[in-house]
Amino acid sequence: MHAQRESVDYNDLIQSLNQATGIFEQTFPLQDFASGNYKQHPSYTLLTCSDSRVPSNFLGDTFNRVFVIENIGNQVKSGEGSLLYGLLHLHTPVMIVAGHTDCGAIKAADGDYNEEPASLRNELDNVRRSMDAARKQAAQFDDVDDELKYTRLAELNVDQQIRYLLEHEEIKQLVDNKSLLILGMMLDLHDHYQGGYGRTYLTNINGATDSSSFPQESPGSMAGTYKRYTR
Ligand SMILES: [Zn+2]
Repeated sequence: MHAQRESVDYNDLIQSLNQATGIFEQTFPLQDFASGNYKQHPSYTLLTCSDSRVPSNFLGDTFNRVFVIENIGNQVKSGEGSLLYGLLHLHTPVMIVAGHTDCGAIKAADGDYNEEPASLRNELDNVRRSMDAARKQAAQFDDVDDELKYTRLAELNVDQQIRYLLEHEEIKQLVDNKSLLILGMMLDLHDHYQGGYGRTYLTNINGATDSSSFPQESPGSMAGTYKRYTR
């Protein structure tokens, strides 16, 4: 589970950080702030995997637009409080749960992680519990050990996180009142869906996983990116 590094040049790393923070400073969107409006008013709450190949800016510019919760395996239970803050206090009209192909957290939770520190075990326990629940809920799922195994499980994991969200009475009510749209997405890092690397696919709308059941009024043009392996 450990990534090994040969050697690290801290000067390079710090310089790279300086450059990045300098660019942010220069491009800081001043309009609202200069007039004294410091409030955040994001439109999207995003729950995604901490995996560095799944940066939150796959949704475009995130500044004051995307309220982000990241943890290993994009788990509701590992970031529930932050998530509820985005939905119940910032009132973002859209909630996105994004998983990705071949998720390492799901792979790790499927293996032996007893030697890991307690807090890491806790988060992997959340992933494992999600996977156990997701497997039970899947209508049709081949749990075979091939190269798509952890992509299929990542899809089911997104469904399971949306189930957890809908178990919250307040969230369910927002969805029923059409004040909140919940979208499940898969980011394809490996061209597993054979549409090209880095593409995003829509896999779930408000808990529905069958595109024929998707409501007509939403999600507009994104319905064209519907694709999934599991049922
Ligand atoms: Zn991951």
